[in-house]
Amino acid sequence: DFEGRVLVIANRLPITIKPDAEGNFDYTMSSGGLVSGLRSLARVVDFKWFGWPGLDVHRNDKDRVRGQLHDQFNAVPIFLQKDLAERHYNGFSNSVLWPLLHRMPEKVGEDGGWSDAYLEVNEIFADNIVPYVEDGDLIWVHDYHLMLLPGILRERLSKKKDLRIGFFLHTPFPSEDYFTILPFREEICRSLLLCDVIGFHTNEYARNFLDSARTVLKDVAKSPHDLHWAGRRVILHGFPIGIEPEEFTQKVQSAEVQKEIAKLEKEFNGQKILLGVDRLDYIKGIPQKVRAFDRFLTAHPEWVGKVTMIQLAIPTRADVPTYQRLREEVEQLIGHVNGKHGTFTHTPIHYLYKSLNPEQLSALYAVSDVCIISSLRDGLNMVSYEYVASQVQRKGVLMMSNYAGAVKLLPSCVAINPWDLPRFAEKIGDVLDMPPEERARRQEENYNVVSKWTSVSWGTSFLNTMITLEIPQTEAP
Ligand code: UDP
Repeated sequence: DFEGRVLVIANRLPITIKPDAEGNFDYTMSSGGLVSGLRSLARVVDFKWFGWPGLDVHRNDKDRVRGQLHDQFNAVPIFLQKDLAERHYNGFSNSVLWPLLHRMPEKVGEDGGWSDAYLEVNEIFADNIVPYVEDGDLIWVHDYHLMLLPGILRERLSKKKDLRIGFFLHTPFPSEDYFTILPFREEICRSLLLCDVIGFHTNEYARNFLDSARTVLKDVAKSPHDLHWAGRRVILHGFPIGIEPEEFTQKVQSAEVQKEIAKLEKEFNGQKILLGVDRLDYIKGIPQKVRAFDRFLTAHPEWVGKVTMIQLAIPTRADVPTYQRLREEVEQLIGHVNGKHGTFTHTPIHYLYKSLNPEQLSALYAVSDVCIISSLRDGLNMVSYEYVASQVQRKGVLMMSNYAGAVKLLPSCVAINPWDLPRFAEKIGDVLDMPPEERARRQEENYNVVSKWTSVSWGTSFLNTMITLEIPQTEAP
């Protein structure tokens, strides 16, 4: 029964814009946890979206795009110059913040004046948002691209009445010894502490933030869920995002996906399928997974020809050198394993470097006997949820790294340590031999979690906390 408006701010608008040959623009709403979490709430809450439109719009077209986004999506584009957007996004956000938030300082890229661009983009966002803000609005800022924005908004909007600001981080938050490496560590803490609610996927990340803030700012009072700083009260809590499981259970049943499944079953006739679905990112531990499979086949040559690994590597951040090197490493390694264990009639690893459409993905999830997630660090990991929701029939096994946030929510997965190669390899053998009753039990337990912690419950619970300023009752892991 909230009557006000919610301003949702993320680096990227959830709308894909395509210019066509006639000089018009084509708009499509993209999917993902944020959009699906807020879609069902959009019926009862008045949302306004702010973000970068993802392309360079010619100055003569800007007003038209602005008008169409406003009329069709209640969205406000924040235009950024190409070079500035590049230094903010690929530069500071993805080459400095991303590796540090994932505890990988060795992956930090060489700085090309990126921190200035980060600050500037956060300021430009504020310039564009401030004129829209009214008394009583809820402002919900998302993710690591905009960590300085809450503080800038709070200062510039100090005259507004009953304004609430919330921030949600879609990545892990590292322990303080990693966080304190960060440039802007003080500014980031100050900015976030000017929020009313700060949300993380898990309470562990919330605790890490609290410890970091206390180290960096000294005068932060210790408290697990609502801390006091500079005369203000801030709620910190885990709000694990989720999926809409019915979308996946229903998709599997569709004629198109069933046809796709039949094709795959024929192709991999009688073989067990191990599946990996990852953006080609160094946080995903793809080389570790391939090495574990190599080791498993070396120890168990009797499985050669009876099991295939399908690894989908979704292209991502391909302009960043670290990602280009990772691609080379992964492809070389897979070539090595296929050369070593392959036969005239069998290729152990099917590797795809591309995105799949939702039907192909659904079929792949449904036909696989095991899904392996071997992240070295991962905020939550939605692939694990999507796999569980697609496995109602087959009851495949979910193997998941101890370093993915989702392992805390899905305790019925088979947990693995991606660094412990011998045991990881052994566990691949164990899950291939797992008795049907155990597979069914684990699937059911996982499915219950996936249907409880949905994207809708995530959106509702975060907004509820912003509205009531009460600590959530459901205790996240
Ligand atoms: N996905 C995709 N394209 C594909 C295959 C999968 O966009 O070709 C989606 C997948 O369905 C999932 C998301 O990518 O929703 C990956 O999310 P996850 O949380 O697992 O990892 P992230 O990529 O956000 O680090």
